[in-house]
Amino acid sequence: MATEQAMGGRDVRFAVIGAGMAGVLTAIKLQEAGITNFTVYEKADKLGGTWRENTYPGIGCDVPSHLYSYSFEPNPDWSHRFSPGAEIQTYFEDVAAKHDVTKTIRFGSAIVRCEFNDGRWELETADGHTDTADFVIAATGVLHHPKYPEIEGLDSFAGDIFHSARWDHDVSIEGKRFGVIGSGSTATQIVTGTVDAVAKLSMFQRTPQWIMPQENPVYSDEEKQAYRDDPEILPALYQQLADGMVANFANAVIDSESPQIKMVEEICRQNLESSVHDPALLEKLRPTYRAACKRLVISTNFYECIQRPNAELVSEEIERIEPEGIRTVDGRLHELDVLVLATGFKVDAFMRPMNIRGRDGVKLDDVWRDRPGAYLSITIPGFPNFFMLNGPNGPVGNFSLIEVAEMQLPYIMQLAELVRSGQCNEVSVSQSVADSFEEERVEAAKNSIWTTGCNSWYLDDRGIPASWPWTFDRFREEMAAPKLEAFELV
Ligand code: NAP
Repeated sequence: MATEQAMGGRDVRFAVIGAGMAGVLTAIKLQEAGITNFTVYEKADKLGGTWRENTYPGIGCDVPSHLYSYSFEPNPDWSHRFSPGAEIQTYFEDVAAKHDVTKTIRFGSAIVRCEFNDGRWELETADGHTDTADFVIAATGVLHHPKYPEIEGLDSFAGDIFHSARWDHDVSIEGKRFGVIGSGSTATQIVTGTVDAVAKLSMFQRTPQWIMPQENPVYSDEEKQAYRDDPEILPALYQQLADGMVANFANAVIDSESPQIKMVEEICRQNLESSVHDPALLEKLRPTYRAACKRLVISTNFYECIQRPNAELVSEEIERIEPEGIRTVDGRLHELDVLVLATGFKVDAFMRPMNIRGRDGVKLDDVWRDRPGAYLSITIPGFPNFFMLNGPNGPVGNFSLIEVAEMQLPYIMQLAELVRSGQCNEVSVSQSVADSFEEERVEAAKNSIWTTGCNSWYLDDRGIPASWPWTFDRFREEMAAPKLEAFELV
């Protein structure tokens, strides 16, 4: 991005919504481009998004740390191959401070209204602050609205109960009878993070998950020093990890018959069969669908932890929640002091419940009445100069979301540049292009591993994966430059 002075053009204003990974990235890149006329609106009092909100014991990222970093900010100090959540939160805070963008964030400012009127976006926060911007970049994340299960008696529980993304650190779990509902990535990490502390751990599994084993070594002081001494090592490691993820995973999940996905399945099967000793438990933990159909769980020690004497896998269906604990359909009452709901997120909300109206007062809620959609996960017909990072149907199950945002942002900036340079006032994708894209996407998604017979948050209400169904190379090519014929320039 060239500087504002170098490029001349209109002094346009940007409003960025959300100060998580993608919002901080946007602030850094806008500032680097010499654009200072912007505000990042953040509903909370701290940046960090998912890493601020998820603080449960055991939290970490199962994307390797040296890849789960901004490409332009390698971090020689990652403690582990897969680092804990608190370290990732600190990383984002440190990067924001280093690039001096924390000052651009207006904290405690949840946007409640965002309306396109007379060629500009009017925004309003919950506390009544208003702003007008030429461009809106919604960096509001994918997994940030907790999903609470509909289980009879949920409110009757007499102990402490909370969602995994709303961990109550005032509640001690030491020596308690502790329950977790769910068996996804979050619940498995919680099991590994709590089993040592609690008297009794009960994991309530509705559907077993395939677990991909991963060692998680610490980085030695010598390794960290070497990363600091030679600035070429970490970019090379980043590229190597990114290439490995594409070759072994990203390009494999889109083809359910690929040899790589069959290898993933074989590794998961062997992991289960070699790690779980009690045959009855092994069968309870064995999924009946193919590995990577649901989002793979990656863990070093989940199987070891669930086999501890104080841990129990409860696979009987939950009948109801009672004041003393959980009653399963076999009539057994599992008495609990603390119950955590690791039951996932409402993944079709995106920026909502914000009241967003595009051209002619059209409500986003109406456009997305059936399900959310977007061209290339970035832009919606009828919503000019409004862009999303990691919006609907993007590569959520394919590659690192940081890499995705880093590719999407320059694409968005090229569209914004059309307005900044005076070529037009409004940029919006045409309805017919967005419709054809979606048709092609739906067709391609049918070949992916995600449609091979499981229920998962990757599937929309039609059972179609809400994800990118093509190769990484195609994504990179699409992101290299917008096809201007796809857009209406007014
Ligand atoms: P999730 O994958 O959606 O899992 C929710 C779990 O709750 C499932 O096991 C689900 O069972 C269960 N559940 C939901 N409603 C239930 C009910 N009424 N009764 C019983 N069980 C119920 O959510 P998550 O584990 O929070 O993970 C969400 C995503 O966050 C992951 O897929 C991943 O993308 C991301 N994540 C990433 C990391 C990381 O290390 N990078 C860590 C954690 C999370 P069913 O399977 O039967 O539906």
